[in-house]
Amino acid sequence: MSAADVLIVGYGPAGITAAIYAARKKLSVILIGDLPGGEVRNSGDIENWPGDRTTDGNTLADKLIAHLNDHKEAVQIVQDKVVKIAKDGDVFTTTTESKKEFQSRTIIYTAGRHPRMLGIPGEQEHKNLGVTYCATCDAPLFAGKNVAVIGGGNTGAEAVIMLQKIASHVYLLHDTEKLNADPVLVSNFENDPNVTILYNTKTAAITGGTLVDGLTYTDKTTQEEKTIAVEGVFVTIGAIPNTEPVKDLLALNKFKAIPADRYAITSIPGFFAAGDVTDIRDAQIVVAAGHGCSAALSAGDYISRLPK
Ligand SMILES: Cc1cc2nc3c(=O)[nH]c(=O)nc-3n(C[C@H](O)[C@H](O)[C@H](O)COP(=O)(O)OP(=O)(O)OC[C@H]3O[C@@H](n4cnc5c(N)ncnc54)[C@H](O)[C@@H]3O)c2cc1C
Repeated sequence: MSAADVLIVGYGPAGITAAIYAARKKLSVILIGDLPGGEVRNSGDIENWPGDRTTDGNTLADKLIAHLNDHKEAVQIVQDKVVKIAKDGDVFTTTTESKKEFQSRTIIYTAGRHPRMLGIPGEQEHKNLGVTYCATCDAPLFAGKNVAVIGGGNTGAEAVIMLQKIASHVYLLHDTEKLNADPVLVSNFENDPNVTILYNTKTAAITGGTLVDGLTYTDKTTQEEKTIAVEGVFVTIGAIPNTEPVKDLLALNKFKAIPADRYAITSIPGFFAAGDVTDIRDAQIVVAAGHGCSAALSAGDYISRLPK
């Protein structure tokens, strides 16, 4: 089996951009990805992708994929999940869930992040039975119901905005006395009688039979334990980088992200990483796309220096 020039892991904006740039450099490319379009697919309205004043996640994801498909001859797209990447000499071997193996001279790793769980009783067993990590995907399922959103950052605020007109009542629980979300987002619901913000709370348990029927939390100011009747719990407390397949290949930072510089260069020669899976500060589509571009250009530069 001859080694491809570049193997890209991830089908989001970073991976797709890297593939387009690598293809235009006339490199042979394999892209292995799970969710076509990546987290863009799960985004609601998007108002910060230059060139599209307002768009939505599905539309933008479809446009990114259509652009990638213009380079079908250079890019082999494999819809699969990577489970392990190893390096032997100058060649990387990538193994997928369906037990396929691919060899390549470089890797561009753009696997993004997955939502962090609360780790409280009742969460795991009610996953998709009232507990959800994606408001864009699941908000419409909770029309007319009481719901709780856990986490007062931007993702939590966006979840509240999606839910405030659909749900019967929305509780937003945050662990300190001030929300972290941008004020421009909070202004959408801070005076809405349909939304109750509960500050300084610690979520304790999600209750219910087959389906969720309540949430127990501690009011950290009074140490009182309280329960609210909700049928939906939206968990928005951050995300963990998808670095399991490379945890034995290179050192990760304390958040399990891949340290990568602005050129997407990592500690392993030939292994480049871009977008949300790295220690980059801003988890944004335009940043991921830009980082993916740099990764492809760095990979091209690296390959040009390999012995012929
Ligand atoms: C609800 C929500 C709303 C958002 N709204 C905005 C917004 O309005 N504007 C904005 O700029 N950003 C927004 N973001 C952030 C934005 O979506 C991300 O910053 C961006 O998608 C990151 O791109 P990425 O390519 O690095 O990773 P991702 O988009 O996460 O793509 C990662 C890809 O890797 C794949 N993958 C993961 N593990 C494996 C594996 N083991 N094998 C193979 N493939 C794998 C995934 O399936 C996916 O295809 C939002 C995010 C969320 C969750």
